Amino acid sequence: MSEADDCLFCRIVAGEIPADVVAEDEHTVAFRDIAPQAPTHVLVIPRRHIANAAEVSADDADVVGAMMLAAQAVADLEGIGGADRGFRLVMNVGPDALNSVPHLHLHVLGGRAMSWPPG
Ligand code: AMP
Repeated sequence: MSEADDCLFCRIVAGEIPADVVAEDEHTVAFRDIAPQAPTHVLVIPRRHIANAAEVSADDADVVGAMMLAAQAVADLEGIGGADRGFRLVMNVGPDALNSVPHLHLHVLGGRAMSWPPG
């Protein structure tokens, strides 16, 4: 069994596990987080398995760029992309950041005022 076969988010990409998909393109899938921390909480993931942001290589530049564009598109779809609103993008890496799913994902959070620094 490959790493990707055993990966929750790879299985969402493959359609083997249901998800509330809000957008998708050649490189990415965006779906609602199952435990939302804000009115908008969408995860943008690459179709290709990459473990986390610390594992991104130059070969992944196209995919990571596509993730940023997908996050912008999600923010616009959710009505939080304008200058009067705003949103937070988060990538957690490793245990100190409480990274729980080992497939690269960009949290798109918005729809409420955020605090800083995060806890
Ligand atoms: P992280 O803690 O940064 O690794 O984020 C993983 C996120 O994935 C958490 O916010 C979880 O709530 C979310 N999550 C876990 N399983 C699912 C799932 N089946 N569908 C949607 N979101 C999920």
